[in-house]
Amino acid sequence: MTKEKFIDRLGKLVEIPTISQNVEANSKALGLVEEWADKRCKKLRVTNGNAEILLIGSGNLLQPKVGFLVHMDVVSAKPELFKLTHSGNRLLGRGVSDMKFSIPIGIELLNNVVKENSANDFTLAITTDEEVGGGEGGKHLADEIKFRPGVLIVPDGGDGLVLINKSKGVAHVWVESVGRPAHASEPWLGKNALTPLCRLAVTLLDKYDQNTQQVNWETTMNIGSFSGGKSVNQVCPEAVLKIDFRFPEKRSVAELLTEVQNLASQVDPDLQVKLAAAGDPTYTDIESTAVRKLMQASQEVLGHRLSVDGEFGASDARYWSKYEVPIIMTKPKGGGIHSDEEWIDLDSCMTFYSLMSRYISIL
Ligand SMILES: [Zn+2]
Repeated sequence: MTKEKFIDRLGKLVEIPTISQNVEANSKALGLVEEWADKRCKKLRVTNGNAEILLIGSGNLLQPKVGFLVHMDVVSAKPELFKLTHSGNRLLGRGVSDMKFSIPIGIELLNNVVKENSANDFTLAITTDEEVGGGEGGKHLADEIKFRPGVLIVPDGGDGLVLINKSKGVAHVWVESVGRPAHASEPWLGKNALTPLCRLAVTLLDKYDQNTQQVNWETTMNIGSFSGGKSVNQVCPEAVLKIDFRFPEKRSVAELLTEVQNLASQVDPDLQVKLAAAGDPTYTDIESTAVRKLMQASQEVLGHRLSVDGEFGASDARYWSKYEVPIIMTKPKGGGIHSDEEWIDLDSCMTFYSLMSRYISIL
């Protein structure tokens, strides 16, 4: 792929304001991608709620040897950011790093697989709601459409060609408390809804707050919201505690939720513990064939193996965790995602393309 072709296609994608939930813009951008694909490709386009999913591939669309998962949607930005600009080797604009750079590359990889009639069939999967949780896109693609590639490449993390071998899971847990109002001068006549939540919060902090004070790969917790009560002289009738837990691959959403439920019922059996949102951790075994071949390709193309690291943020890759699909997460050098200075390094994109091209051919 020439730099000119890459820049031209990336520029066309950046110009379409594919903010999550902008169904029309996302649909238009997916249409453009379809036009770029070799006409011999197989396609499937599915609408689910406000998300649209495009699968476009060279062979077995749902069970290819290689899947390449990307998202078209971006976070909102000033109008002038929906135009690709250059600064030296950097390309700037909304979504260039997160993650529109990957779409011209994905199409080129696909078209090459088709042209070479490679036995390693390849499916490019594009969703449009990653930035709002992927519940209608990535989740639907994994659980309902049952997209099961042999290896899933997700270039949505690992800036600077670092292989992300693990990412933490997330659980948003809400604890609801109902009390009985009374005047604060006679608190024994009521029941304060905040009191059991304070006790529970302290119990959880005793266990997890030490992990929250420094970089580590253990379970962390953040009390994002603690609300209840209207006036100082009333015994609080209703309160809610909202906690964001991030946890490593050795734990699960269900186990964490059970732990909070058990602690809550010890404090007050009337507390209601709810799971508001959750995502599984991801973990890729660096001794697996998928990673060994990637390192082999890296040695050939870059002259060295990729470095390996964990990442704290989540991506749509988490929806494939439970299906044990090996996840290959790495991307070119870029930065400033979700900011006004989002950028991607052009040469690094070319290197990433060469690396992926070689990787797919030897898988
Ligand atoms: Zn992303």
